Amino acid sequence: MPVAFPDQIKILSQLQHIDGEAYALKKELDEQPSIKKTMEAEFDRKKASFKHADENLKTAQLKQKEKEVGLQSIEEKIKKFQAQLYTLKSNKEYQAMEMEIKGAKADKSVLEEEILGLFDAVDEAKKKCAKEKEALAAEEKKFKENVLAVDKHIVELQENISVSNERRKEFLPNLDPKIVSQYEKLLRNRDGVGLVPVRNGSCSGCNMDLPPQVINEIQANNKLIFCESCARILYWNS
Ligand SMILES: [Zn+2]
Repeated sequence: MPVAFPDQIKILSQLQHIDGEAYALKKELDEQPSIKKTMEAEFDRKKASFKHADENLKTAQLKQKEKEVGLQSIEEKIKKFQAQLYTLKSNKEYQAMEMEIKGAKADKSVLEEEILGLFDAVDEAKKKCAKEKEALAAEEKKFKENVLAVDKHIVELQENISVSNERRKEFLPNLDPKIVSQYEKLLRNRDGVGLVPVRNGSCSGCNMDLPPQVINEIQANNKLIFCESCARILYWNS
């Protein structure tokens, strides 16, 4: 059985306190998936950074390998030319071959220089890659811990919300279902605040000044009075 009106407003204000807390919990719960998504995106970026370093290393190693193969074939060419040198009959042919050998030796020297440079590049890339790998392992540990913490927080929030839901049920038998339904509609449409006290002559939900006549009606406390601006139920907090 609903209690007398003045007491209903008092009970409703207690209910609003619980519902307000539950609303904040629900809002926090709704934010958790996007918090997790941000963490995942951040971790994906860290993974990409390692992948990039790994690719750089592989590219440098491949380049080095190609140059080494190139060097080998030039060395073979030089050997072949040098062997041919003694089979040549004319001076002209001999000189031409000598020029070829000189050219190949110059190419060889350039390649050797490049290979030396690539050794440094590979070494540098290896160091960078190892560093990124280590950083990624640390990030992964942190990421997993953070995800676990969020999951734990989600469970806590859900538990607290169901505690609130249980607690609010205790108030309902003393309230007029019509009042509850109006109040709950406001809860849904007004960010979890359906009932607000008058503060300094204004609605504390929207800060709208209340005419003296309305304040008198609220103080009389015998029916629901709604704020004309935000539609919330007003009460006198004596
Ligand atoms: Zn208002």
